[in-house]
Amino acid sequence: MTVTAPKARLIDGKAVAADLRAEVAQGVEAFKKRHGIAPGLAVVLVGNDPASEVYVRNKGRQTREVGMNSVEDRLPAETTEAALLDKVAALNADPTIHGILVQLPLPGHIDERRVIEAITPEKDVDGFHPINVGRLSSGEKALVPCTPSGCIILAKSVATDLSGREAVIVGRSNIVGKPLAQLLLRENCTVTIAHSRTRDLPQVVRRADIVCAAVGRPEMVRGDWIMPGAIVIDVGINRVPAGEPGKTRLVGDVAFDEAVQVAGAITPVPGGVGPMTIACLLQNTLAAACAAHDDADRLRPAPGQAPRSGQPS
Ligand code: NDP
Repeated sequence: MTVTAPKARLIDGKAVAADLRAEVAQGVEAFKKRHGIAPGLAVVLVGNDPASEVYVRNKGRQTREVGMNSVEDRLPAETTEAALLDKVAALNADPTIHGILVQLPLPGHIDERRVIEAITPEKDVDGFHPINVGRLSSGEKALVPCTPSGCIILAKSVATDLSGREAVIVGRSNIVGKPLAQLLLRENCTVTIAHSRTRDLPQVVRRADIVCAAVGRPEMVRGDWIMPGAIVIDVGINRVPAGEPGKTRLVGDVAFDEAVQVAGAITPVPGGVGPMTIACLLQNTLAAACAAHDDADRLRPAPGQAPRSGQPS
C-alpha cells in the first residue's frame, strides 16, 4: 500500500487559541491598570452533567490564567427556574461581573430560552440573547457566539481575506450554523446554509471554497465532497468506538483522512475549533468589560464587530 503525504495545511487551533489568550491577557492587564479591577466572568452550572463539569472547570482555569476574576456558581439539579432567574438577576446587578454564562443544557424543568433572555445583553458573553442575535444579523456591534467566532479566526489564519469566496455551512443550529453564516456574510463571502433537508448535499459542498461542518454526525463529509484547495473548518465533536473494546476516540463531522488529501487547509479534531471556543469567550468578556467602562475602542474588534473608522479591518 502506498501512503500519500497529506496535502492540506493543518490549522492548529491550539496555537491560534494560545495566541488569542495571550492577547486577551495583555488587554486584561491594561484594563486593570486603567480601572483598578479585573474583568469578571460568572459561570453558572445547574446539576452535574459530567461534560458540563469539565467545560466549566476548563473555563474557570483559563479565565484565571488570563488574569480575570472567575466566579463559579454550582447549583443543584433540582434548582427551580425561579431560583435560577434570581441568581441571574443578582449577577446582572453585580458591577464586578462583566460576563455571565449559564452552562447549557439545563435540566428539563427549566426553560432555557427564559433564562438566556434574563441575562442582560451587555453581559451575554455567549451571544445567545435575542438582542445580540438581532444586532449580529443587522450588522451592529454585538457579543457574538464563541464557536462561530473561533471558526472565522481559524479560517482567517490561513486566508486573511475571505471576500468573494463561496462558503457552505452544513448545519443550521442557533449556536453554530446560523451565527457562523452571519459572520461569513460580514466577511463578504457568498454563504449557503445546508441542513438535513438539503438536496444533493455532496454537490452543494463541492462548490465551496470554505466548508464549515457543524452537524454532529461522525465523518459525514467525505473527501470527494471537498473542492481541491478548499478551507475546511470542522466544528463536529463526536465520540466513536476506537479499535479496542471499551475505548473511544473523538472525530469530527469531516472524514479527516480523506479530506486532508484534497483540501488546502483543514482543522483537525481534536485540536481545531474546540480550543477556540473558550479563548473567544474570554475575548468577549474583556470586550464586555471594556464596553461597561466606555473604553471598548481600545480593543481589536472581534469577528462580527464592525471595524472602527480609521482602523484596518
Ligand atoms: P445541532 O444538533 O443543534 O444541529 C445539527 C445541524 O446539522 C442541524 O441543522 C441539522 O439539520 C444538521 N444535520 C443533521 N443531520 C444532517 C444530515 N444528514 N445532512 C445535513 N445536515 C444535517 O448541532 P450543533 O450545531 O449544536 O453542533 C454540531 C456539532 O458541533 C456537534 O458535533 C457538536 O458537538 C459540535 N460543537 C462543537 C463545539 C466546539 O466548541 N467545537 C461547540 C458547539 C457544537 P436540521 O436543522 O435540518 O435538523
